[in-house]
Amino acid sequence: MISRARITYKQRESFTKCFPQPFTYMTMREKFDGFLTERAVSAGASLMDGFKVNRIDVDNGVSQVFGEKDAFDGKVLVGADGANSIVAHRLGLLQEAEMGVGLESEVYTEDEYLQPWASIVSLDFGTIRGGYMWVFPKGDHLSIGVAGFMKFGPRMRDLLDGYLSSLQIGDFRLQVTRRHRLARRRLGMPFHIGNAVLIGYAAGTVDFWTGEGIYYALRTAQMAAPAVCNYLEGNVRDLRQYEEVVDR
Ligand SMILES: Cc1cc2nc3c(=O)[nH]c(=O)nc-3n(C[C@H](O)[C@H](O)[C@H](O)COP(=O)(O)OP(=O)(O)OC[C@H]3O[C@@H](n4cnc5c(N)ncnc54)[C@H](O)[C@@H]3O)c2cc1C
Repeated sequence: MISRARITYKQRESFTKCFPQPFTYMTMREKFDGFLTERAVSAGASLMDGFKVNRIDVDNGVSQVFGEKDAFDGKVLVGADGANSIVAHRLGLLQEAEMGVGLESEVYTEDEYLQPWASIVSLDFGTIRGGYMWVFPKGDHLSIGVAGFMKFGPRMRDLLDGYLSSLQIGDFRLQVTRRHRLARRRLGMPFHIGNAVLIGYAAGTVDFWTGEGIYYALRTAQMAAPAVCNYLEGNVRDLRQYEEVVDR
């Protein structure tokens, strides 16, 4: 539970805002995604863990997805396959989306250095134009990262190293460092064709400024569901209704 935010400008001037109530919560994605997967399976979804989609075909109201060995077909295809969506790519959707990039490390250090971060997040603005750097506490480690426009990609590593060395976090070690792409849809960019739709990151629904996207992924899924039901029940001819609801 986070109830304080420390804001720095170019890693120097700072202030800390305290809130009477927690204003955000931290989670580990493995746990959160595992929880969602369990809920989906108990609601009747079939899970095919490890199945990589290599190719899709959408034609005459039938969608097919192809893996290495197997292929499946269905009346509707929902692309929930993230920022590098093969569904978006194959359907030619969101090709003009605004692109961003993030570099994030899981940082481990001694308890005495972790403790002060227990209920606070830190955000730095100004070091990277149009982006920011962050420290998020994750219990036994810190998530520390930098995100901004794609053009900053080559500088991300140096920016992250500089930020890490400016923080007082003792002799830390980086367990994992991941590079991520993010795409932002601009209003009016289609993210459906016929019987195929995109949701979440694949649809470019993200707050480009903060990179926050879990809420939007869940909301677009909730918005797509009634449109898909309407389509499967034969009440509408395509999934346009979904796009209209999201835009609204
Ligand atoms: C560094 C970083 C920090 C972030 N921090 C936050 C945060 O603090 N709060 C927040 O709200 N959001 C955060 N986000 C954004 C958040 O991660 C995304 O908005 C969210 O994960 C989108 O969910 P999704 O299900 O649409 O896509 P994803 O979570 O990207 O899931 C896509 C899934 O599709 C699978 N997939 C992809 N391609 C294929 C294929 N060919 N075949 C089969 N499966 C495939 C992937 O394995 C993955 O499981 C952060 C993002 C980044 C990059």
